[in-house]
Amino acid sequence: MTKITPQPGILDIDPYVGGASHVEGISNAVKLSSNENPFGPSEAAKEAFRKAAYELHRYPSTDHASLRAAIAEVHGLDAGRIICGVGSDEILAFLCQAYAGPGDEVIHTEHGFAIYRIGALTNGATPVEVPERERVTDVDAILAACTERTKLVFIANPNNPTGTMIGEGEIARLAEGLPEQTLLVLDGAYAEYVENYDGGAALVEARENVVMTRTFSKLYGLGGLRVGWGYGPAHVIDVLNRIRGPFNLSQAALVTAEAAIRDRAWAEKCREDNTRLRAWLAEALAEHGVPSDTSTANFILARFADRAQAEACDEYLKSQGLIVRRVAGYNLPHCLRITVGDEAACRRVAHAVGQFLGNVA
Ligand SMILES: *Cc1c(COP(=O)(O)O)cnc(C)c1O
Repeated sequence: MTKITPQPGILDIDPYVGGASHVEGISNAVKLSSNENPFGPSEAAKEAFRKAAYELHRYPSTDHASLRAAIAEVHGLDAGRIICGVGSDEILAFLCQAYAGPGDEVIHTEHGFAIYRIGALTNGATPVEVPERERVTDVDAILAACTERTKLVFIANPNNPTGTMIGEGEIARLAEGLPEQTLLVLDGAYAEYVENYDGGAALVEARENVVMTRTFSKLYGLGGLRVGWGYGPAHVIDVLNRIRGPFNLSQAALVTAEAAIRDRAWAEKCREDNTRLRAWLAEALAEHGVPSDTSTANFILARFADRAQAEACDEYLKSQGLIVRRVAGYNLPHCLRITVGDEAACRRVAHAVGQFLGNVA
């Protein structure tokens, strides 16, 4: 037996498993398992990335001033209270590292994103799972679960993998009701898909106990680049900047993300296409007897009769070259999460589900 052992909690972590991207024996499979933008990043972003090749010998900016200014301009925020990270995952990790340790509790919801639990355990804190109400975040259940040890509450709004969200009034009620030592983290990975939703920015402005995180991985089509950001009260951003590595983001990542966020036309087109195709896909699945909650994100959580049917459908989709996501690990064994692809992909998925259920030839 080795005496070399990791910190308490680390071995309780089940390593994160990303969405599959290949099917054995099928060359042109459609990947609908990681909520990626089927249209990819804007041309301006790709051009910025190509140009960055000529500067690869230079160290990147350490303060990310140019990208923060662009984000601030587009969203009407204070650039001084924005922090950029290697995906929003890094911001979420900083928050756990900075605020949660042994003896502390970190709340996440029943079908919440896996990274919250991993972040808590990484730092020796105790993850606390709170029930949702029919796959929707339950503010009362969260408030009831808070103790004097609760340091962080993580809510994805819209949530992954349910696709549901709660209103701004509910979020405000949650922030207002938390114990004084508790920080509310609003994970807005899918906020851009919701029309007229600020991701919680106004609440961040109004309070000292709310942080929001955002990403370039979803609407902006830059999952492979790894850029996310956070916005919070000055005291929190100051803390996070102390643990952020000075060169956490490459210059290629910084300039590409900046070009992406400045291309409003592409972002708007992607959002509109997603809204239209998401409605079409949900309707088509419902016609085959596969219900889903109204999604506010770029995926649909399809509900099947039971676990066996969901798994059999997943196998059938795979045989047709369609890769979707099983979500048993999110306490949803009877569901499959399907990213809204381009129109052809949506039609293929709907047709294949219909074939699987014997509804179409
Ligand atoms: C995809 C996703 C993220 C974003 O992760 P990145 O590290 O920014 O790629 C964060 N939270 C949730 C809930 C997600 O689904």
